Amino acid sequence: MRKTVLQVLTFLCAGVVSFNVNAQDKKYPEPESMSPGMSEWWKPQPPIVTPGTATDAGSTTAPSDAIILFDGKNLDQWQKPNGDAPEWIVKNGVFTVKPGTGEIRTKQEFGDFQLHIEWRIPENVQGESQGRGNSGVFLQGKYEIQILDNYNNETYSNGQAGSVYKQSRPLVNAMRKPGEWNVYDIIYEAPTFKKDGTYRTPPRVTVLQNGVILQNNTIIKGTTEYIGFPKVIPHGNGPILLQDHGNPISFRNVWIREL
Ligand code: MG
Repeated sequence: MRKTVLQVLTFLCAGVVSFNVNAQDKKYPEPESMSPGMSEWWKPQPPIVTPGTATDAGSTTAPSDAIILFDGKNLDQWQKPNGDAPEWIVKNGVFTVKPGTGEIRTKQEFGDFQLHIEWRIPENVQGESQGRGNSGVFLQGKYEIQILDNYNNETYSNGQAGSVYKQSRPLVNAMRKPGEWNVYDIIYEAPTFKKDGTYRTPPRVTVLQNGVILQNNTIIKGTTEYIGFPKVIPHGNGPILLQDHGNPISFRNVWIREL
Protein backbone atom coordinates (compact mmCIF):
# COMPACT_ATOMS: atom_id res chain seq x y z
CA MET A 1 0.00 0.00 0.00
CA ARG A 2 1.25 3.46 -0.87
CA LYS A 3 1.99 5.58 2.19
CA THR A 4 0.20 8.92 2.42
CA VAL A 5 2.24 12.08 2.81
CA LEU A 6 0.92 12.36 6.38
CA GLN A 7 2.17 8.87 7.24
CA VAL A 8 5.61 9.63 5.85
CA LEU A 9 5.85 12.88 7.84
CA THR A 10 4.70 11.12 11.02
CA PHE A 11 7.38 8.48 10.52
CA LEU A 12 10.11 11.10 9.97
CA CYS A 13 9.07 13.14 13.03
CA ALA A 14 9.11 10.05 15.21
CA GLY A 15 12.63 9.35 14.01
CA VAL A 16 13.80 12.87 14.92
CA VAL A 17 12.27 12.59 18.41
CA SER A 18 13.88 9.23 19.08
CA PHE A 19 17.23 10.54 17.81
CA ASN A 20 17.02 13.50 20.24
CA VAL A 21 16.16 11.25 23.16
CA ASN A 22 19.16 9.10 22.37
CA ALA A 23 21.41 12.17 22.14
CA GLN A 24 20.21 13.33 25.58
CA ASP A 25 21.03 9.97 27.09
CA LYS A 26 24.45 9.71 25.48
CA LYS A 27 27.53 10.47 27.57
CA TYR A 28 29.78 13.20 26.13
CA PRO A 29 33.10 14.44 27.59
CA GLU A 30 32.85 17.40 30.00
CA PRO A 31 34.78 20.59 29.02
CA GLU A 32 38.34 20.52 30.33
CA SER A 33 38.86 22.69 33.42
CA MET A 34 40.45 26.11 32.91
CA SER A 35 43.15 27.92 34.86
CA PRO A 36 43.49 31.73 35.22
CA GLY A 37 46.53 31.87 32.92
CA MET A 38 44.55 30.55 29.96
CA SER A 39 42.85 33.94 29.53
CA GLU A 40 45.84 36.22 30.33
CA TRP A 41 47.47 37.79 27.27
CA TRP A 42 50.81 39.54 27.90
CA LYS A 43 51.71 40.55 24.34
CA PRO A 44 51.48 43.06 22.84
CA GLN A 45 51.87 45.42 25.79
CA PRO A 46 49.91 48.69 25.29
CA PRO A 47 52.25 51.57 24.30
CA ILE A 48 52.89 54.16 27.00
CA VAL A 49 51.38 57.62 26.42
CA THR A 50 52.18 60.38 28.90
CA PRO A 51 48.89 62.11 29.71
CA GLY A 52 48.60 65.87 30.11
CA THR A 53 49.78 67.22 33.44
CA ALA A 54 47.18 67.25 36.19
CA THR A 55 46.38 70.68 37.51
CA ASP A 56 43.98 71.73 40.22
CA ALA A 57 41.73 73.09 37.49
CA GLY A 58 41.86 69.71 35.75
CA SER A 59 39.40 68.21 38.21
CA THR A 60 36.13 69.78 37.16
CA THR A 61 32.98 69.70 39.20
CA ALA A 62 29.92 67.84 37.92
CA PRO A 63 27.71 69.25 35.17
CA SER A 64 24.25 70.51 36.12
CA ASP A 65 22.30 67.36 35.16
CA ALA A 66 24.63 64.83 36.82
CA ILE A 67 23.74 62.62 39.76
CA ILE A 68 26.44 63.16 42.38
CA LEU A 69 27.68 59.80 43.66
CA PHE A 70 30.36 61.26 45.93
CA ASP A 71 30.59 64.91 46.91
CA GLY A 72 33.55 64.62 49.28
CA LYS A 73 31.44 64.33 52.43
CA ASN A 74 29.91 60.86 52.82
CA LEU A 75 29.01 57.55 51.16
CA ASP A 76 25.25 58.07 51.45
CA GLN A 77 24.79 57.05 47.80
CA TRP A 78 26.56 53.71 48.42
CA GLN A 79 25.99 50.45 50.26
CA LYS A 80 27.45 46.99 50.59
CA PRO A 81 25.85 44.42 48.27
CA ASN A 82 23.95 43.03 51.30
CA GLY A 83 22.51 46.49 52.01
CA ASP A 84 24.74 47.34 54.99
CA ALA A 85 26.50 50.71 55.22
CA PRO A 86 29.97 50.78 53.59
CA GLU A 87 33.01 50.66 55.87
CA TRP A 88 35.36 52.36 53.43
CA ILE A 89 37.06 55.45 54.87
CA VAL A 90 35.96 59.01 54.06
CA LYS A 91 38.59 61.63 54.88
CA ASN A 92 39.65 65.00 53.46
CA GLY A 93 37.13 64.90 50.60
CA VAL A 94 38.26 61.45 49.45
CA PHE A 95 37.09 57.91 50.12
CA THR A 96 39.43 54.93 50.31
CA VAL A 97 39.03 51.16 50.17
CA LYS A 98 39.25 49.63 53.63
CA PRO A 99 40.77 46.28 52.64
CA GLY A 100 38.80 43.27 53.71
CA THR A 101 35.47 45.08 54.14
CA GLY A 102 34.26 44.14 50.67
CA GLU A 103 33.00 45.87 47.57
CA ILE A 104 30.56 48.76 47.58
CA ARG A 105 27.82 49.63 45.10
CA THR A 106 25.55 52.53 44.37
CA LYS A 107 22.07 52.34 45.84
CA GLN A 108 20.70 53.57 42.54
CA GLU A 109 20.78 51.40 39.42
CA PHE A 110 21.48 52.61 35.90
CA GLY A 111 21.07 51.68 32.23
CA ASP A 112 23.02 53.75 29.69
CA PHE A 113 25.28 56.33 31.31
CA GLN A 114 28.31 58.59 31.32
CA LEU A 115 30.39 58.07 34.48
CA HIS A 116 33.18 60.29 35.80
CA ILE A 117 35.37 58.85 38.56
CA GLU A 118 38.79 59.92 39.83
CA TRP A 119 41.09 57.42 41.52
CA ARG A 120 44.51 57.39 43.11
CA ILE A 121 47.05 54.68 43.79
CA PRO A 122 48.86 55.25 47.10
CA GLU A 123 52.30 56.84 46.69
CA ASN A 124 54.00 54.01 48.61
CA VAL A 125 52.30 51.26 46.59
CA GLN A 126 53.63 47.74 47.14
CA GLY A 127 53.46 44.53 45.11
CA GLU A 128 53.61 43.72 41.42
CA SER A 129 51.41 42.75 38.47
CA GLN A 130 47.78 42.28 39.60
CA GLY A 131 48.77 42.63 43.26
CA ARG A 132 49.74 46.30 42.86
CA GLY A 133 47.04 48.92 43.30
CA ASN A 134 44.11 46.79 42.19
CA SER A 135 40.46 47.84 42.29
CA GLY A 136 37.86 48.10 39.54
CA VAL A 137 34.69 49.75 38.34
CA PHE A 138 31.93 47.23 37.58
CA LEU A 139 29.39 48.56 35.08
CA GLN A 140 25.85 47.48 35.99
CA GLY A 141 27.57 45.40 38.69
CA LYS A 142 28.80 42.89 36.08
CA TYR A 143 31.48 44.18 33.72
CA GLU A 144 34.81 45.30 35.22
CA ILE A 145 36.85 48.19 33.89
CA GLN A 146 40.15 47.47 35.62
CA ILE A 147 41.80 49.86 38.05
CA LEU A 148 45.47 48.97 38.59
CA ASP A 149 48.84 50.65 39.03
CA ASN A 150 50.46 50.12 35.64
CA TYR A 151 53.01 52.89 36.08
CA ASN A 152 56.22 50.89 35.67
CA ASN A 153 54.31 47.72 36.47
CA GLU A 154 53.62 45.21 33.74
CA THR A 155 50.86 42.65 33.84
CA TYR A 156 48.90 40.71 31.26
CA SER A 157 47.71 43.37 28.84
CA ASN A 158 44.04 42.35 28.98
CA GLY A 159 44.14 42.86 32.76
CA GLN A 160 45.79 46.28 32.70
CA ALA A 161 44.24 49.55 33.87
CA GLY A 162 41.42 50.45 31.51
CA SER A 163 40.99 46.92 30.21
CA VAL A 164 37.61 45.29 30.00
CA TYR A 165 39.01 42.70 32.36
CA LYS A 166 40.32 39.67 30.47
CA GLN A 167 38.45 40.70 27.33
CA SER A 168 39.89 43.84 25.78
CA ARG A 169 43.29 45.40 26.46
CA PRO A 170 43.47 49.21 26.55
CA LEU A 171 44.72 50.91 23.38
CA VAL A 172 47.50 52.60 25.37
CA ASN A 173 48.89 52.95 28.87
CA ALA A 174 48.03 56.50 30.07
CA MET A 175 48.91 56.08 33.76
CA ARG A 176 49.91 58.82 36.11
CA LYS A 177 52.37 58.05 38.91
CA PRO A 178 51.26 56.56 42.21
CA GLY A 179 50.14 59.42 44.44
CA GLU A 180 48.68 61.40 41.51
CA TRP A 181 45.02 61.37 40.52
CA ASN A 182 43.84 59.43 37.47
CA VAL A 183 40.51 60.24 35.81
CA TYR A 184 38.17 57.79 34.11
CA ASP A 185 35.37 58.97 31.88
CA ILE A 186 33.30 55.95 30.94
CA ILE A 187 30.47 55.99 28.39
CA TYR A 188 28.36 52.83 28.58
CA GLU A 189 25.54 51.40 26.51
CA ALA A 190 23.56 48.69 28.29
CA PRO A 191 22.77 45.41 26.53
CA THR A 192 19.38 44.20 25.35
CA PHE A 193 18.42 40.54 25.46
CA LYS A 194 16.54 38.02 23.37
CA LYS A 195 13.94 35.73 24.91
CA ASP A 196 16.54 32.94 25.08
CA GLY A 197 18.74 35.07 27.35
CA THR A 198 21.48 35.85 24.81
CA TYR A 199 22.38 39.41 23.83
CA ARG A 200 20.24 41.02 21.16
CA THR A 201 22.69 43.93 21.38
CA PRO A 202 25.80 43.45 23.55
CA PRO A 203 26.97 46.04 26.07
CA ARG A 204 29.43 48.59 24.68
CA VAL A 205 31.89 50.83 26.44
CA THR A 206 34.15 53.77 25.71
CA VAL A 207 36.81 54.59 28.32
CA LEU A 208 39.08 57.63 28.57
CA GLN A 209 41.85 57.83 31.14
CA ASN A 210 43.24 61.31 31.77
CA GLY A 211 41.70 62.45 28.49
CA VAL A 212 43.30 59.61 26.46
CA ILE A 213 41.05 57.00 24.86
CA LEU A 214 41.61 53.42 26.03
CA GLN A 215 38.45 51.65 24.84
CA ASN A 216 36.71 52.90 21.71
CA ASN A 217 33.10 51.68 21.65
CA THR A 218 34.31 48.21 22.67
CA ILE A 219 31.84 45.32 22.64
CA ILE A 220 31.67 43.60 26.02
CA LYS A 221 31.30 39.84 25.53
CA GLY A 222 29.83 39.02 28.92
CA THR A 223 30.81 39.01 32.57
CA THR A 224 34.49 39.64 33.32
CA GLU A 225 35.58 36.33 34.80
CA TYR A 226 38.89 35.62 36.55
CA ILE A 227 38.77 32.02 35.33
CA GLY A 228 37.16 30.97 32.09
CA PHE A 229 35.00 32.57 29.45
CA PRO A 230 32.64 35.55 29.75
CA LYS A 231 29.11 34.58 30.77
CA VAL A 232 25.99 36.12 29.26
CA ILE A 233 23.51 36.63 32.09
CA PRO A 234 20.24 38.48 31.41
CA HIS A 235 19.84 41.58 33.56
CA GLY A 236 18.18 44.95 33.75
CA ASN A 237 19.55 48.16 35.20
CA GLY A 238 22.43 47.69 37.63
CA PRO A 239 24.66 49.61 40.03
CA ILE A 240 28.14 51.04 39.75
CA LEU A 241 30.20 48.68 41.92
CA LEU A 242 33.73 49.32 43.18
CA GLN A 243 36.06 46.44 43.97
CA ASP A 244 37.90 45.74 47.21
CA HIS A 245 40.95 43.85 45.94
CA GLY A 246 42.88 44.34 49.18
CA ASN A 247 44.60 47.58 48.14
CA PRO A 248 43.83 51.04 49.62
CA ILE A 249 42.79 52.83 46.41
CA SER A 250 41.23 56.28 46.88
CA PHE A 251 38.38 57.92 44.94
CA ARG A 252 36.94 61.41 44.57
CA ASN A 253 34.60 63.48 42.39
CA VAL A 254 32.28 60.68 41.29
CA TRP A 255 29.24 61.60 39.19
CA ILE A 256 27.05 60.02 36.57
CA ARG A 257 24.73 61.22 33.82
CA GLU A 258 21.95 58.92 32.65
CA LEU A 259 21.69 58.73 28.85
MG1 MG B 1 40.32 44.74 39.63
